[in-house]
Amino acid sequence: MRTLNKIIVVGASLAGLRAVQTLRQEGFDGEITLVGAETHLPYNRPPLSKGLLRGDDDILLPGAGELDDSWSRGRTAVHLNPATRTLTLDDGAELGYDGLVIATGARPRPMAAARMLRTLEDALALRAELERGHEHVVVVGAGFIGGEVASTARELGLKVTLIDSGRRPMLAGLGEVASAWLAGLHERGGVELVSGVRVQAVEEGRVRLADGRAIPAGLVVAGLGVVPNTEWLDGSGLPVDDGVLVEETLFARGSARIVAAGDVARWPHSLYGGATVRVEHWSNANDQGAAAARNLLAGPEESRAFDGVPNFATSVHGSRIQTAGLPHLADTATVVAGAPEEDRFAVAFTREDVLVGAVAVNSPKDLIKLKRRITAGQPIYDDQ
Ligand SMILES: Cc1cc2nc3c(=O)[nH]c(=O)nc-3n(C[C@H](O)[C@H](O)[C@H](O)COP(=O)(O)OP(=O)(O)OC[C@H]3O[C@@H](n4cnc5c(N)ncnc54)[C@H](O)[C@@H]3O)c2cc1C
Repeated sequence: MRTLNKIIVVGASLAGLRAVQTLRQEGFDGEITLVGAETHLPYNRPPLSKGLLRGDDDILLPGAGELDDSWSRGRTAVHLNPATRTLTLDDGAELGYDGLVIATGARPRPMAAARMLRTLEDALALRAELERGHEHVVVVGAGFIGGEVASTARELGLKVTLIDSGRRPMLAGLGEVASAWLAGLHERGGVELVSGVRVQAVEEGRVRLADGRAIPAGLVVAGLGVVPNTEWLDGSGLPVDDGVLVEETLFARGSARIVAAGDVARWPHSLYGGATVRVEHWSNANDQGAAAARNLLAGPEESRAFDGVPNFATSVHGSRIQTAGLPHLADTATVVAGAPEEDRFAVAFTREDVLVGAVAVNSPKDLIKLKRRITAGQPIYDDQ
């Protein structure tokens, strides 16, 4: 391990917390400063669109209460100068470092007059609105957050319309078969699905669509994807392009002292021919936070490439949808277990005959098998 005395971790959520915990577990006994824009102890975001909306407030991340390092709570990093190794905070404080972890995540794409869902405050405000019992909830964006909110609102007995500009919900991430099945599931769950049209404006009591239709709406929630939080790196010289561009080892390009992890990081993935990817999933932030911390301590020469296979799960209308790898990179998709009509099936995604992704619906064992094969770069799925 090389000698570092002061490490700053920017972003006090999943990736940042994992980085701090790993630095200590690996024996780093220097100074750690955690800088986080939020004032809460680090918490889990997945329950914000699931259990928390139904009243379950247990969302703290394990170990979040045991942070004994210096912690700038509610402070935002506004500028980084890698040449002088200083970080400037929004209160003007300047902090020096030997090593820096960037874990500033992402924020929702905004839509005027609609509710977003990223923070605990967002979720509590949405919960209060749902409890008020609006007659008609309109969810814009049928990605996983939009789908989960629509499903939860139906559970609460509310009328729900789900609007998406794509041809089918989650088409890019799930592929044709699972996406068509998901559209049917929403409809069976009592959600009115409006596809292939954009929202023009959210007006008083309704949502105006680009084709002129108006959908009545007491409450509008938008889940339109996220943008990485990188503005504070403007002028730092660090390369940024839809995320902080890092090497396979998670070191920022051209830097031996700065690593990035989680939703904010874009890195070349060896399993996908070096294509750069940015992954917005829990397990990626969890694993990368730890890997980035270990590599920061080891230094670029002794670092290991991060090649974790992304995986993700969402629950909608009582069905569990899991994905592994990157299905959108595939040229071919094949149903390899079960059938959509049975509400239980798995799809294997291959590119040039190599397995690159998998989707499993109510079929966790198939996902495990397929994920193992993706990790091994195997060509076929033949041991069902
Ligand atoms: C409602 C919801 C449901 C989800 N459900 C799932 C799911 O079911 N499965 C799944 O795999 N993933 C899910 N995710 C995604 C998952 O939560 C994220 O991938 C994960 O939170 C990423 O962690 P992170 O630490 O990289 O970033 P974030 O969690 O975004 O944390 C970044 C932190 O950095 C702070 N910050 C930003 N800029 C600055 C700055 N300049 N200075 C200081 N601090 C800063 C932010 O305030 C934030 O606290 C969900 C996300 C949401 C919002």
